[in-house]
Amino acid sequence: MTTSATVSPLSGSDLASHVDALRGYFAAGRTRSYEWRRSQLEGLKRFLTEREPEIVAALKSDLGRDDFEAWFGDIAPPMGDIEVALKGLKSWMRPQHRRVPLTQLPAKARIQYEPLGVVLVIGPWNYPVNLSLGPMVPALAAGNCVVLKPSEVAPATSRLMAEHLPTYLDREAVLVVEGDGAITQELLAQGFDHAFFTGGTEIGRKIMAGAAATLTPVTLELGGKSPAIVTADSDLEVVARRIAWVKLMNSGQTCIAPDYVLAEAPIKDELVQRLQSTIREFTAQENGGKRIVNERQFSRLVGYLEQTKGTVVEGGSWTSADLAISPTLIVDPDPGEPAMAEEIFGPILPVMSFSDVDQVISFVNGRSKPLGLYVFGRDSRVTNRLVEEIPAGGAVINHCAIHYLMPSLPFGGVGASGMGVYHGEWGFQTFSHRKPVAVKGFGLDLKMTYPPYTESTKRLMRKLF
Ligand code: NAD
Repeated sequence: MTTSATVSPLSGSDLASHVDALRGYFAAGRTRSYEWRRSQLEGLKRFLTEREPEIVAALKSDLGRDDFEAWFGDIAPPMGDIEVALKGLKSWMRPQHRRVPLTQLPAKARIQYEPLGVVLVIGPWNYPVNLSLGPMVPALAAGNCVVLKPSEVAPATSRLMAEHLPTYLDREAVLVVEGDGAITQELLAQGFDHAFFTGGTEIGRKIMAGAAATLTPVTLELGGKSPAIVTADSDLEVVARRIAWVKLMNSGQTCIAPDYVLAEAPIKDELVQRLQSTIREFTAQENGGKRIVNERQFSRLVGYLEQTKGTVVEGGSWTSADLAISPTLIVDPDPGEPAMAEEIFGPILPVMSFSDVDQVISFVNGRSKPLGLYVFGRDSRVTNRLVEEIPAGGAVINHCAIHYLMPSLPFGGVGASGMGVYHGEWGFQTFSHRKPVAVKGFGLDLKMTYPPYTESTKRLMRKLF
């Protein structure tokens, strides 16, 4: 069998024949056993362990990340996913018995989890290893063949995965295809048993349109503007640390980063000051700002700074030669300006104020449903009300983004921030068909339940059903 290093780049009939080969392999039942699934998870683990230095170097080249951020953002999370899957797999695979209604007795009912077949995982560039391997863990744990299409925007990481990942896995079941959006559409045109996409909302629409032609079901892990709402009784020192830490990670290029802050009016100025001093403290050893992935994203962010109608109280500068933007606080932007209308996905944090809970709820609900909702405050009646009344993919009270790190919780968006979930057993279910199975014996086959029905049987059946 070919390695992905020799089959990449693929297109047209090449793609079709490779996907067909995977279909044949899946149909032969080779990926179904517990042992096979386990061996793939162990293979992913070995890839992450043995190739850590190369992964760190690729992330440095693609994103300018330091060693620790590379490990924290791209190695530790899929490693955690693998451990959870290895621990849970046997029980996840077990059929679940269900109750049978009186009218169907004697019988048994169960749900059994069936692999879907050949699935497509389409990765983004911002955490290119984590968000490629993260979905591959449940896809393989569920017994599927996988085609991975990493993001071309992180080329060193894409190449590394294409060259080395298949050598740690069953090469007849896993294929890595490098390429851009056009290749992704060609892949989608092959038809898959599932497509799992992580990326922006606009591309998400194109993925869904491409998948529709072959009725390929999709999971879309998209983006959006995740607000951090800070009520007046919060511990502002802690709030500033938590918001600044998550916002600055990976230069703000994190889908679940707080996108903007809504602070209750009486504490807005103090929060801004604390955010300012925390940002300075966190970035004291850096110089030249936060590196952005490429020219296109850099120009988009510089455009937000140039067009702001708010007051820039921190940062606001950029260095084109290094694609670097200094961590920036914009106070009181216009709600319609680009930084408040589009997902920021960079080290820029707008801060606005609100006067009461009703106002902040209607402000957030007047926009697309966010991926994350972060609510700060000591009064649980208020924080719970905000969580209840603002639809969002996920929510955290008194921190940002940590729901992502809890595999017992489903992770995903809602509305424009996505559809479908993964992590832990939720991911296993996404990549499995829940097949309902009803089982009868041959005994107790009452003739009266078959036509032609007598009047008394009809009366009885009306009562029973
Ligand atoms: P993107 O949408 O630009 O690209 C993602 C993938 O889609 C890439 O593999 C790319 O090759 C492919 N693609 C590009 N154009 C395509 C087309 N026309 N048809 C088919 N495929 C195409 O996303 P990105 O810029 O890589 O990532 C940033 C976005 O992703 C942000 O909006 C962020 O919020 C979101 N994101 C979401 C999550 C999540 O878990 N929900 C995680 C990370 C990033």
